[in-house]
Amino acid sequence: MPLVSLRDVRKSYPAASKNSEPVTAVAGVDLDIDAGDVFGIIGYSGAGKSTLVRLINALEPVTSGSVLIDGVDVSKLGEKELRKLRLGIGMIFQQFNLFDSKTVFNNVAYPLRVARTPKPELQRRVAELLKFVGLADKAGNYPEQLSGGQKQRVGIARALATSPRILLADEATSALDPETTHEVLSLLKRVNEEFGVTIIVITHEMDVIQTLANKVAVMDRGRVVEQGDVFEVFSRP
Ligand code: ADP
Ligand code: ADP
Repeated sequence: MPLVSLRDVRKSYPAASKNSEPVTAVAGVDLDIDAGDVFGIIGYSGAGKSTLVRLINALEPVTSGSVLIDGVDVSKLGEKELRKLRLGIGMIFQQFNLFDSKTVFNNVAYPLRVARTPKPELQRRVAELLKFVGLADKAGNYPEQLSGGQKQRVGIARALATSPRILLADEATSALDPETTHEVLSLLKRVNEEFGVTIIVITHEMDVIQTLANKVAVMDRGRVVEQGDVFEVFSRP
């Protein structure tokens, strides 16, 4: 059974004013993402990629169709089960979304505090995560003291804190230069290989998909226009 399945998923937003039309952000998408995949979703700005991410982690309800995780329809989950689902899905973002007023340590510790992790375990876990991302010596620093690549590595450590099975990366390297992008993509590859985390990579950059992903879906105006192994999709004429 796929880890994540989308079945004819649609999402429309109501018209913003009397003079505008409703927006169909996702217009009938079918996707299957297997455990262990690095699954790329590529498309131009406005194609519906970010909306799809918010539907997968159930931050927003679908208009129609279904999102299944482990075969369970997320729209059928209660608040408590949704919280559990979201603990199992880490997210990283283009603008990193770190807490500027918290140290690196406390950024990474944040999800563990929310999950009421006992202090000794929390400290051990944060130390381990910072070591993994190569920032053990930056625990006491604030985000503004870090480079973009370092900030994203903090973002990755924070996203992994609760040992999620799925990591959603939404344009996670779009604010980084090519060299730093390469560094962050290598780290994500290790997250997939060493921890078996399934990674869903949203991007408008072909290079990111070719470096990292094994499967890809190409989105255009709310639809998936191609889907399959990266090698096959990109070698089609
Ligand atoms: P992408 O991530 O591929 O750039 P989005 O999912 O952000 O695409 O957007 C797809 C379409 O849905 C766009 O036309 C966008 O303006 C619209 N859209 C996204 N979110 C909302 C929202 N909350 N309200 C209204 N329209 C939205
Ligand atoms: P509190 O619960 O009051 O935050 P902690 O002992 O958890 O107390 O943390 C105190 C501060 O020390 C935190 O703000 C954190 O930044 C820092 N800190 C705690 N443990 C570590 C650690 N292993 N490495 C680096 N900094 C740490």
